[in-house]
Amino acid sequence: MRIDGKAIAAEVVHEIKSLVHALPGRKPGLAFVLVGADPASEIYVRAKKKACTETGMHSVLVQLPSTIAESDVLAQIQKLNLDPSIDGILVQLPLPPHINPQIVTASVDPRKDVDGFHPINVGKMLLGDETAFVPCTPHGIVVLLQKSNTVVEGKHVVILGRSNIVGKPLAALLMQKKPGCNATVTVCHSKSDHLVQLTKTADVLVAAMGNPKLVKASMVKPGAVVIDVGINRVDGKVVGDVDFDEVEKVASKITPVPGGVGPMTIAMLLKNTWLSYQRKHA
Ligand code: NAD
Repeated sequence: MRIDGKAIAAEVVHEIKSLVHALPGRKPGLAFVLVGADPASEIYVRAKKKACTETGMHSVLVQLPSTIAESDVLAQIQKLNLDPSIDGILVQLPLPPHINPQIVTASVDPRKDVDGFHPINVGKMLLGDETAFVPCTPHGIVVLLQKSNTVVEGKHVVILGRSNIVGKPLAALLMQKKPGCNATVTVCHSKSDHLVQLTKTADVLVAAMGNPKLVKASMVKPGAVVIDVGINRVDGKVVGDVDFDEVEKVASKITPVPGGVGPMTIAMLLKNTWLSYQRKHA
């Protein structure tokens, strides 16, 4: 069975849209900071901005040249930190090589850090503090699992990929001591030995490597749930990290690419922006 991320995300977005429309005054505001002209980043920002506008939120795109000095990027972020019409700030990664992403990420006001990348939010998330902004992709995966009635409690989740934006935070979320989590998590990476031995023991297998169609049917336990996070462009087509056609035959549930995790990432960004707005007005 396919897990329809598009439909589940649409439900979340619809809920947010109703909440935004019911607001009598100022609408939540989300600012996008895009440095340079990376084609993939432009596509992602455009899709996120469009979704934001569709909910009735206010959105701003701050587009900066790739040659901009780091200090000027920081000055732009500081302006957004102080802007009362802005509840969320998203700095699209990757940044040009002369700009340090850690410094830039840490310059965003943690109360407006709707991407959940600021060290304060990362720390809070690890501690299970409910006031953290949770990074959008791992959060989207947890919601996708819950809404598709996939029980992870007590189950073995194997995550392929240990990045700061997907693998690591997803592991932290799924192992948390709370309903909808409580999983036993194994995180694999490019240096892991005996990868197939590990993936074959997964009740839920999450692929987040950026390696087109690497996960084959022979790596999956029959009946496992497979979540494909990968977004790879091959011959002009977008494909995931899972060889969908063959893995669909052995998995009990699987997310497609596109239309799986991607829309959930955008939905969680809007959710975090709504949350930031609400906290300000609580
Ligand atoms: P990354 O390059 O930062 O990290 C990749 C990770 O995969 C690394 O930890 C690496 O050790 C591991 N890895 C690479 N090859 C491996 C292999 N053969 N076996 C095991 N582990 C291996 O990537 P990222 O930013 O985490 O993104 C991963 C993929 O997810 C990319 O395709 C990216 O485009 C996609 N992505 C999708 C969304 C979404 O919304 N759907 C969001 C973020 C990232």
